[in-house]
Amino acid sequence: MNAEIIAVGSELLTPDRLDTNSLFLTGRLSMLGIRVSRKTIVGDQPGDIRDAFSEALHRAEVVISTGGLGPTLDDQTREAVSGLLGLALKLDQETLQHIRERFKRMSRAMPEINIRQAMVPEGAEILPNPRGTAPGLWLEPRGRRIILLPGPPNEMEGMFEQEVVRRLARRGAGIRLVKCEIRVTGMGESHLEEIIAPIYSSYPNVETTILAGQGEIQIHPRMWSADAEAARHILDELTAKIEVALGDHIFSSVGETFENVVAKALTANHATIATAESCTGGLVAERLTRVPGSSAYFISGVVCYSNEAKTALADVSPAMIATRGSVSSEVAIAMAEGIRRRSKATLGIGITGIAGPGGGTPEKPVGMVHIAFADENNTRESRFVFPGDRERVRWQASQVALDWVRRYFLPGSCGVN
Ligand code: AMP
Ligand code: MG
Repeated sequence: MNAEIIAVGSELLTPDRLDTNSLFLTGRLSMLGIRVSRKTIVGDQPGDIRDAFSEALHRAEVVISTGGLGPTLDDQTREAVSGLLGLALKLDQETLQHIRERFKRMSRAMPEINIRQAMVPEGAEILPNPRGTAPGLWLEPRGRRIILLPGPPNEMEGMFEQEVVRRLARRGAGIRLVKCEIRVTGMGESHLEEIIAPIYSSYPNVETTILAGQGEIQIHPRMWSADAEAARHILDELTAKIEVALGDHIFSSVGETFENVVAKALTANHATIATAESCTGGLVAERLTRVPGSSAYFISGVVCYSNEAKTALADVSPAMIATRGSVSSEVAIAMAEGIRRRSKATLGIGITGIAGPGGGTPEKPVGMVHIAFADENNTRESRFVFPGDRERVRWQASQVALDWVRRYFLPGSCGVN
Protein backbone atom coordinates (compact mmCIF):
# COMPACT_ATOMS: atom_id res chain seq x y z
CA MET A 1 0.00 0.00 0.00
CA ASN A 2 1.46 3.37 -0.91
CA ALA A 3 0.52 6.76 0.45
CA GLU A 4 0.98 10.42 -0.31
CA ILE A 5 0.90 13.24 2.19
CA ILE A 6 -0.45 16.68 1.43
CA ALA A 7 0.39 19.50 3.85
CA VAL A 8 -2.09 22.32 3.35
CA GLY A 9 -1.30 25.86 4.45
CA SER A 10 0.05 28.97 2.76
CA GLU A 11 2.22 29.60 5.82
CA LEU A 12 4.16 26.43 4.94
CA LEU A 13 5.28 28.08 1.70
CA THR A 14 7.01 30.94 3.54
CA PRO A 15 10.37 31.01 5.29
CA ASP A 16 8.62 31.17 8.67
CA ARG A 17 6.94 27.79 8.99
CA LEU A 18 8.15 24.29 8.37
CA ASP A 19 5.92 21.33 7.57
CA THR A 20 6.73 19.08 10.50
CA ASN A 21 3.47 17.12 10.38
CA SER A 22 4.69 15.09 7.42
CA LEU A 23 7.81 14.06 9.33
CA PHE A 24 5.62 12.52 12.00
CA LEU A 25 3.36 10.92 9.40
CA THR A 26 6.14 9.40 7.29
CA GLY A 27 7.63 7.84 10.41
CA ARG A 28 4.38 6.39 11.68
CA LEU A 29 3.18 5.22 8.27
CA SER A 30 6.36 3.34 7.57
CA MET A 31 5.99 1.58 10.92
CA LEU A 32 2.53 0.52 9.76
CA GLY A 33 3.96 -0.90 6.56
CA ILE A 34 2.66 1.89 4.37
CA ARG A 35 5.14 3.30 1.96
CA VAL A 36 5.09 7.07 1.49
CA SER A 37 5.94 7.76 -2.12
CA ARG A 38 5.52 11.52 -2.23
CA LYS A 39 4.62 14.53 -0.17
CA THR A 40 3.26 17.82 -1.36
CA ILE A 41 2.94 21.21 0.26
CA VAL A 42 0.14 23.33 -1.09
CA GLY A 43 -1.12 26.80 -0.19
CA ASP A 44 -4.67 27.65 0.85
CA GLN A 45 -6.10 28.34 -2.64
CA PRO A 46 -9.01 25.91 -3.20
CA GLY A 47 -7.99 25.26 -6.82
CA ASP A 48 -4.46 24.30 -5.76
CA ILE A 49 -5.73 22.05 -2.99
CA ARG A 50 -8.11 20.35 -5.40
CA ASP A 51 -5.33 19.77 -7.95
CA ALA A 52 -3.04 18.35 -5.29
CA PHE A 53 -5.65 15.81 -4.19
CA SER A 54 -6.64 14.99 -7.73
CA GLU A 55 -3.04 14.22 -8.72
CA ALA A 56 -2.27 12.29 -5.55
CA LEU A 57 -5.39 10.13 -6.02
CA HIS A 58 -4.14 9.08 -9.43
CA ARG A 59 -0.98 7.70 -7.87
CA ALA A 60 -1.65 6.60 -4.32
CA GLU A 61 -4.08 4.34 -2.53
CA VAL A 62 -3.97 6.45 0.62
CA VAL A 63 -3.87 10.25 0.65
CA ILE A 64 -3.44 11.92 4.02
CA SER A 65 -3.63 15.67 4.43
CA THR A 66 -3.06 17.95 7.36
CA GLY A 67 -4.29 21.51 7.77
CA GLY A 68 -7.01 23.63 6.28
CA LEU A 69 -9.81 22.33 8.52
CA GLY A 70 -9.98 25.43 10.71
CA PRO A 71 -12.98 27.73 11.00
CA THR A 72 -11.55 30.68 9.07
CA LEU A 73 -12.11 31.33 5.40
CA ASP A 74 -8.51 30.51 4.49
CA ASP A 75 -9.14 26.92 5.59
CA GLN A 76 -10.50 25.23 2.48
CA THR A 77 -9.46 21.57 2.54
CA ARG A 78 -12.92 20.24 3.39
CA GLU A 79 -14.62 22.22 0.64
CA ALA A 80 -11.94 21.54 -1.99
CA VAL A 81 -12.03 17.77 -1.43
CA SER A 82 -15.85 17.60 -1.40
CA GLY A 83 -15.88 19.59 -4.62
CA LEU A 84 -13.33 17.30 -6.26
CA LEU A 85 -15.27 14.16 -5.31
CA GLY A 86 -18.67 15.70 -6.09
CA LEU A 87 -19.91 15.18 -2.54
CA ALA A 88 -22.37 17.57 -0.92
CA LEU A 89 -21.46 19.02 2.47
CA LYS A 90 -24.07 18.45 5.18
CA LEU A 91 -24.25 19.85 8.66
CA ASP A 92 -23.50 17.13 11.19
CA GLN A 93 -25.50 17.86 14.33
CA GLU A 94 -23.40 15.68 16.61
CA THR A 95 -20.19 17.40 15.56
CA LEU A 96 -21.80 20.80 15.95
CA GLN A 97 -22.88 19.81 19.44
CA HIS A 98 -19.33 18.75 20.29
CA ILE A 99 -17.95 22.09 19.10
CA ARG A 100 -20.61 24.03 21.04
CA GLU A 101 -19.83 22.11 24.22
CA ARG A 102 -16.14 22.74 23.79
CA PHE A 103 -16.76 26.48 23.72
CA LYS A 104 -19.15 26.19 26.65
CA ARG A 105 -16.46 24.50 28.73
CA MET A 106 -14.23 27.52 28.03
CA SER A 107 -17.18 29.78 29.03
CA ARG A 108 -17.38 31.24 25.57
CA ALA A 109 -20.13 31.41 22.98
CA MET A 110 -19.39 29.55 19.77
CA PRO A 111 -18.65 32.00 16.97
CA GLU A 112 -20.85 31.48 13.91
CA ILE A 113 -17.83 30.73 11.73
CA ASN A 114 -17.19 27.50 13.64
CA ILE A 115 -20.33 25.99 12.11
CA ARG A 116 -18.18 25.34 9.03
CA GLN A 117 -16.22 22.78 11.00
CA ALA A 118 -19.35 20.68 11.47
CA MET A 119 -19.94 20.43 7.71
CA VAL A 120 -19.26 16.86 6.62
CA PRO A 121 -19.05 15.51 3.06
CA GLU A 122 -21.72 12.84 2.51
CA GLY A 123 -20.45 9.35 3.21
CA ALA A 124 -17.48 10.56 5.25
CA GLU A 125 -16.56 8.99 8.54
CA ILE A 126 -15.93 11.53 11.31
CA LEU A 127 -12.72 11.28 13.31
CA PRO A 128 -13.37 12.93 16.69
CA ASN A 129 -10.94 15.58 17.90
CA PRO A 130 -10.86 15.81 21.70
CA ARG A 131 -7.99 18.30 21.53
CA GLY A 132 -9.60 20.87 19.25
CA THR A 133 -12.66 21.84 17.31
CA ALA A 134 -11.97 20.50 13.82
CA PRO A 135 -12.90 16.83 13.42
CA GLY A 136 -10.92 14.75 10.99
CA LEU A 137 -12.60 13.11 8.01
CA TRP A 138 -12.15 9.69 6.44
CA LEU A 139 -13.38 9.14 2.90
CA GLU A 140 -13.22 6.10 0.65
CA PRO A 141 -13.89 7.14 -2.93
CA ARG A 142 -13.44 4.45 -5.60
CA GLY A 143 -11.29 2.15 -3.49
CA ARG A 144 -8.95 4.94 -2.40
CA ARG A 145 -8.65 6.35 1.09
CA ILE A 146 -8.56 10.04 1.88
CA ILE A 147 -7.82 11.07 5.42
CA LEU A 148 -8.15 14.74 6.33
CA LEU A 149 -6.43 15.67 9.59
CA PRO A 150 -6.23 19.03 11.38
CA GLY A 151 -3.06 21.16 11.16
CA PRO A 152 -2.02 21.76 14.78
CA PRO A 153 0.58 19.04 15.44
CA ASN A 154 -0.81 17.93 18.82
CA GLU A 155 -4.34 17.52 17.39
CA MET A 156 -3.04 15.78 14.29
CA GLU A 157 -0.80 13.39 16.22
CA GLY A 158 -3.47 12.53 18.78
CA MET A 159 -6.03 11.85 16.07
CA PHE A 160 -3.57 9.76 14.09
CA GLU A 161 -2.78 7.56 17.08
CA GLN A 162 -6.35 7.21 18.33
CA GLU A 163 -8.37 7.07 15.14
CA VAL A 164 -6.20 6.47 12.10
CA VAL A 165 -3.77 3.76 13.18
CA ARG A 166 -6.34 1.05 13.86
CA ARG A 167 -8.32 1.88 10.72
CA LEU A 168 -5.18 1.64 8.57
CA ALA A 169 -3.84 -1.43 10.38
CA ARG A 170 -7.07 -3.26 9.64
CA ARG A 171 -6.44 -2.64 5.96
CA GLY A 172 -2.66 -3.13 5.86
CA ALA A 173 -1.31 -6.32 4.32
CA GLY A 174 1.28 -6.93 7.04
CA ILE A 175 4.06 -5.51 4.89
CA ARG A 176 6.82 -3.89 6.90
CA LEU A 177 9.83 -1.76 6.19
CA VAL A 178 13.06 -3.42 7.25
CA LYS A 179 16.11 -1.19 7.23
CA CYS A 180 19.67 -0.83 8.37
CA GLU A 181 22.12 2.02 8.49
CA ILE A 182 25.84 1.96 7.78
CA ARG A 183 27.90 5.04 8.62
CA VAL A 184 31.22 5.86 7.03
CA THR A 185 33.88 8.50 7.55
CA GLY A 186 37.14 9.45 5.89
CA MET A 187 36.12 9.00 2.27
CA GLY A 188 34.31 11.03 -0.38
CA GLU A 189 30.84 10.28 -1.68
CA SER A 190 31.91 9.53 -5.27
CA HIS A 191 34.68 7.21 -4.18
CA LEU A 192 32.30 5.38 -1.87
CA GLU A 193 29.68 5.10 -4.61
CA GLU A 194 32.27 3.64 -6.98
CA ILE A 195 33.08 0.93 -4.49
CA ILE A 196 29.62 -0.04 -3.31
CA ALA A 197 27.38 0.58 -6.36
CA PRO A 198 28.25 -2.83 -7.86
CA ILE A 199 27.31 -4.44 -4.54
CA TYR A 200 23.98 -2.81 -3.79
CA SER A 201 22.81 -2.76 -7.39
CA SER A 202 22.90 -6.54 -7.36
CA TYR A 203 20.06 -6.38 -4.80
CA PRO A 204 17.22 -4.93 -6.89
CA ASN A 205 14.63 -5.45 -4.15
CA VAL A 206 16.62 -3.38 -1.70
CA GLU A 207 16.26 0.37 -2.00
CA THR A 208 19.66 1.82 -1.09
CA THR A 209 20.06 5.54 -0.48
CA ILE A 210 23.34 7.30 0.19
CA LEU A 211 23.26 10.45 2.29
CA ALA A 212 26.34 12.62 2.61
CA GLY A 213 26.50 14.76 5.73
CA GLN A 214 29.10 16.67 7.71
CA GLY A 215 32.20 14.50 7.84
CA GLU A 216 30.28 11.30 7.25
CA ILE A 217 28.24 9.38 4.73
CA GLN A 218 25.28 7.23 5.62
CA ILE A 219 24.20 4.23 3.59
CA HIS A 220 20.56 3.25 4.12
CA PRO A 221 19.50 -0.05 2.58
CA ARG A 222 15.73 -0.58 3.02
CA MET A 223 13.37 -3.30 2.01
CA TRP A 224 9.60 -3.65 2.12
CA SER A 225 8.52 -7.16 2.86
CA ALA A 226 5.79 -9.24 4.42
CA ASP A 227 8.49 -11.60 5.67
CA ALA A 228 10.60 -9.48 8.01
CA GLU A 229 12.97 -12.31 8.85
CA ALA A 230 13.79 -13.05 5.23
CA ALA A 231 14.25 -9.33 4.54
CA ARG A 232 16.55 -8.99 7.55
CA HIS A 233 18.61 -11.89 6.24
CA ILE A 234 19.04 -10.22 2.84
CA LEU A 235 19.95 -6.87 4.43
CA ASP A 236 22.49 -8.55 6.72
CA GLU A 237 24.10 -10.20 3.72
CA LEU A 238 24.28 -6.88 1.85
CA THR A 239 25.67 -5.13 4.93
CA ALA A 240 28.36 -7.78 5.33
CA LYS A 241 29.50 -7.27 1.73
CA ILE A 242 29.62 -3.50 2.18
CA GLU A 243 31.60 -3.98 5.39
CA VAL A 244 34.21 -6.01 3.57
CA ALA A 245 34.45 -3.43 0.77
CA LEU A 246 34.74 -0.35 2.98
CA GLY A 247 36.66 -1.85 5.89
CA ASP A 248 37.53 0.46 8.74
CA HIS A 249 36.03 3.48 7.01
CA ILE A 250 32.82 2.16 8.52
CA PHE A 251 32.42 3.41 12.05
CA SER A 252 28.98 1.94 12.68
CA SER A 253 26.73 -0.62 11.03
CA VAL A 254 23.90 0.05 13.46
CA GLY A 255 23.37 3.77 13.01
CA GLU A 256 25.37 5.07 16.01
CA THR A 257 26.66 8.62 16.03
CA PHE A 258 30.35 9.16 15.41
CA GLU A 259 30.82 10.79 18.81
CA ASN A 260 29.22 7.79 20.48
CA VAL A 261 31.53 5.37 18.71
CA VAL A 262 34.61 7.36 19.77
CA ALA A 263 33.27 7.59 23.33
CA LYS A 264 32.67 3.85 23.48
CA ALA A 265 36.20 3.10 22.26
CA LEU A 266 37.74 5.36 24.90
CA THR A 267 35.57 4.01 27.69
CA ALA A 268 36.03 0.34 26.75
CA ASN A 269 39.80 0.81 26.74
CA HIS A 270 39.89 2.80 30.00
CA ALA A 271 41.68 5.57 28.15
CA THR A 272 41.54 9.26 28.96
CA ILE A 273 41.98 12.22 26.66
CA ALA A 274 42.81 15.93 26.75
CA THR A 275 42.72 18.49 23.94
CA ALA A 276 44.55 21.71 23.10
CA GLU A 277 42.75 23.47 20.27
CA SER A 278 43.39 26.66 18.41
CA CYS A 279 41.47 27.03 15.14
CA THR A 280 38.73 24.55 16.12
CA GLY A 281 37.91 26.67 19.17
CA GLY A 282 37.02 23.72 21.38
CA LEU A 283 34.97 21.79 18.82
CA VAL A 284 36.84 18.53 19.48
CA ALA A 285 36.26 18.94 23.22
CA GLU A 286 32.61 19.76 22.59
CA ARG A 287 32.12 16.67 20.46
CA LEU A 288 33.95 14.47 22.97
CA THR A 289 31.71 15.71 25.77
CA ARG A 290 28.44 15.47 23.82
CA VAL A 291 28.04 11.92 24.98
CA PRO A 292 26.56 11.23 28.41
CA GLY A 293 29.18 9.64 30.64
CA SER A 294 32.05 11.54 29.00
CA SER A 295 33.60 12.20 32.40
CA ALA A 296 34.87 8.61 32.20
CA TYR A 297 37.42 9.59 29.54
CA PHE A 298 37.53 13.34 29.07
CA ILE A 299 40.04 15.10 31.34
CA SER A 300 40.29 18.62 29.98
CA GLY A 301 40.25 20.75 26.87
CA VAL A 302 41.86 24.13 26.40
CA VAL A 303 41.31 26.66 23.65
CA CYS A 304 44.67 28.32 23.18
CA TYR A 305 44.20 30.90 20.50
CA SER A 306 47.00 33.38 21.21
CA ASN A 307 50.68 32.47 21.28
CA GLU A 308 50.81 33.30 24.97
CA ALA A 309 47.90 30.95 25.68
CA LYS A 310 49.64 28.13 23.79
CA THR A 311 52.55 28.58 26.16
CA ALA A 312 50.53 29.16 29.32
CA LEU A 313 47.96 26.38 28.76
CA ALA A 314 49.80 23.74 26.73
CA ASP A 315 53.49 24.36 27.53
CA VAL A 316 54.47 25.27 23.96
CA SER A 317 57.85 27.01 24.07
CA PRO A 318 57.79 30.66 22.97
CA ALA A 319 61.00 30.06 21.03
CA MET A 320 59.35 27.33 18.97
CA ILE A 321 56.40 29.57 18.16
CA ALA A 322 58.82 32.34 17.18
CA THR A 323 60.89 30.17 14.87
CA ARG A 324 58.31 27.78 13.40
CA GLY A 325 55.16 29.93 13.56
CA SER A 326 52.02 29.16 15.54
CA VAL A 327 50.56 27.19 12.62
CA SER A 328 53.21 24.50 12.23
CA SER A 329 53.83 20.80 12.75
CA GLU A 330 56.11 21.49 15.70
CA VAL A 331 53.54 23.59 17.54
CA ALA A 332 50.72 21.08 16.92
CA ILE A 333 52.94 18.30 18.29
CA ALA A 334 53.96 20.42 21.29
CA MET A 335 50.29 21.19 22.00
CA ALA A 336 49.26 17.52 21.91
CA GLU A 337 52.18 16.40 24.04
CA GLY A 338 51.93 19.37 26.39
CA ILE A 339 48.24 18.97 27.14
CA ARG A 340 48.60 15.22 27.56
CA ARG A 341 51.40 15.62 30.10
CA ARG A 342 49.68 18.44 31.96
CA SER A 343 46.35 16.62 32.20
CA LYS A 344 47.94 13.23 32.93
CA ALA A 345 45.72 11.82 30.16
CA THR A 346 46.45 8.70 28.14
CA LEU A 347 45.98 10.61 24.89
CA GLY A 348 46.46 14.21 23.79
CA ILE A 349 45.23 16.12 20.75
CA GLY A 350 46.71 19.36 19.41
CA ILE A 351 45.17 21.37 16.57
CA THR A 352 46.41 24.59 15.02
CA GLY A 353 45.47 26.04 11.65
CA ILE A 354 43.87 28.76 9.59
CA ALA A 355 40.08 28.42 9.47
CA GLY A 356 39.66 31.56 7.35
CA PRO A 357 38.25 33.38 5.58
CA GLY A 358 41.15 35.78 6.33
CA GLY A 359 44.69 35.08 7.48
CA GLY A 360 45.89 32.85 4.65
CA THR A 361 49.26 33.25 2.89
CA PRO A 362 50.71 31.40 -0.11
CA GLU A 363 52.73 29.13 2.22
CA LYS A 364 49.95 28.77 4.76
CA PRO A 365 46.64 28.99 2.89
CA VAL A 366 43.16 29.16 4.43
CA GLY A 367 42.09 25.65 5.37
CA MET A 368 45.60 24.56 6.36
CA VAL A 369 45.43 22.70 9.66
CA HIS A 370 48.07 20.76 11.60
CA ILE A 371 46.67 17.98 13.73
CA ALA A 372 48.72 16.06 16.27
CA PHE A 373 47.80 13.04 18.35
CA ALA A 374 50.00 11.78 21.17
CA ASP A 375 50.11 8.79 23.47
CA GLU A 376 52.84 8.13 25.99
CA ASN A 377 55.22 6.67 23.40
CA ASN A 378 54.58 8.41 20.11
CA THR A 379 53.08 11.43 18.44
CA ARG A 380 51.51 11.47 15.03
CA GLU A 381 51.16 14.71 13.10
CA SER A 382 49.75 15.61 9.69
CA ARG A 383 49.13 18.73 7.73
CA PHE A 384 45.83 19.10 5.87
CA VAL A 385 44.42 21.71 3.56
CA PHE A 386 40.66 21.39 3.98
CA PRO A 387 38.28 22.84 1.40
CA GLY A 388 35.22 24.93 2.21
CA ASP A 389 34.31 27.78 4.49
CA ARG A 390 35.32 28.38 8.10
CA GLU A 391 32.63 26.10 9.47
CA ARG A 392 33.61 23.22 7.18
CA VAL A 393 37.33 23.61 7.82
CA ARG A 394 36.77 23.46 11.56
CA TRP A 395 34.43 20.49 11.32
CA GLN A 396 36.75 18.48 9.06
CA ALA A 397 39.68 19.11 11.41
CA SER A 398 37.66 17.87 14.39
CA GLN A 399 36.52 14.86 12.37
CA VAL A 400 40.09 13.82 11.48
CA ALA A 401 41.23 14.19 15.08
CA LEU A 402 38.35 12.13 16.42
CA ASP A 403 38.78 9.55 13.69
CA TRP A 404 42.41 9.08 14.71
CA VAL A 405 41.17 8.36 18.21
CA ARG A 406 38.64 5.85 16.88
CA ARG A 407 41.25 4.10 14.71
CA TYR A 408 43.77 4.02 17.55
CA PHE A 409 41.55 1.49 19.28
CA LEU A 410 40.73 -0.70 16.28
CA PRO A 411 42.01 -4.27 16.45
CA GLY A 412 45.40 -4.43 14.75
CA SER A 413 46.10 -0.73 15.11
CA CYS A 414 49.71 0.14 15.78
CA GLY A 415 49.50 2.95 18.30
CA VAL A 416 49.06 6.52 17.17
CA ASN A 417 50.45 5.81 13.70
P1 AMP B 1 -4.92 24.87 10.03
O1 AMP B 1 -5.60 23.60 10.44
O2 AMP B 1 -4.56 24.88 8.59
O3 AMP B 1 -5.66 26.09 10.44
O4 AMP B 1 -3.53 24.89 10.81
C1 AMP B 1 -3.47 25.34 12.12
C2 AMP B 1 -2.04 25.48 12.58
O5 AMP B 1 -1.40 24.21 12.57
C3 AMP B 1 -1.13 26.34 11.69
O6 AMP B 1 -1.17 27.67 12.04
C4 AMP B 1 0.23 25.76 11.96
O7 AMP B 1 0.76 26.37 13.11
C5 AMP B 1 -0.04 24.33 12.26
N1 AMP B 1 0.24 23.50 11.10
C6 AMP B 1 -0.52 23.32 10.01
N2 AMP B 1 0.04 22.48 9.13
C7 AMP B 1 1.21 22.12 9.67
C8 AMP B 1 2.29 21.26 9.24
N3 AMP B 1 2.23 20.59 8.08
N4 AMP B 1 3.37 21.13 10.04
C9 AMP B 1 3.41 21.78 11.22
N5 AMP B 1 2.46 22.59 11.69
C10 AMP B 1 1.36 22.77 10.94
MG1 MG C 1 -4.34 26.80 7.62
